[in-house]
Amino acid sequence: MRVTGIPSDQFEHYRCGGADANGQAPLVATASGSRNPCRHCLGLIDEGEPMLILNYRPFAGAPQPYSESGPIFLHQAACARYDQAELPTWFVGLDPAAIRGYGANDWMRYETGQIVRGPDLAQIAATILENENAAYVHIRSKFGCFQCRVDR
Ligand SMILES: [Zn+2]
Repeated sequence: MRVTGIPSDQFEHYRCGGADANGQAPLVATASGSRNPCRHCLGLIDEGEPMLILNYRPFAGAPQPYSESGPIFLHQAACARYDQAELPTWFVGLDPAAIRGYGANDWMRYETGQIVRGPDLAQIAATILENENAAYVHIRSKFGCFQCRVDR
């Protein structure tokens, strides 16, 4: 299993004020509370740190009916892209989370979609990736916010 944050070239684009999925510059805010995940390093942004809020479409290519976009947070400061064989440990606190597979055409695979408890995410992701119709997995929060992508 390969778990990744958003590509670093996209992260740099947004850090430089580049347009988001809505065609708007990212908002700069100060992190409040302890549950503001950066989708590049997949770490939690420390309270009081500057962060970016923007609308993100986690799919390559032209928009299509299943390429939904939604709000994400990013560190404003530079950070290292997450690229590991396991989920970040804090994902156990995503309770529940939405998880589903996508086909190679980036269309959602309805048979894979589930709402699961955080501690079960890794096992469910592995099970979805055993389905040859699923090219990759997306994990989202209970609010529908994209968290990360998981590949075989
Ligand atoms: Zn970060």
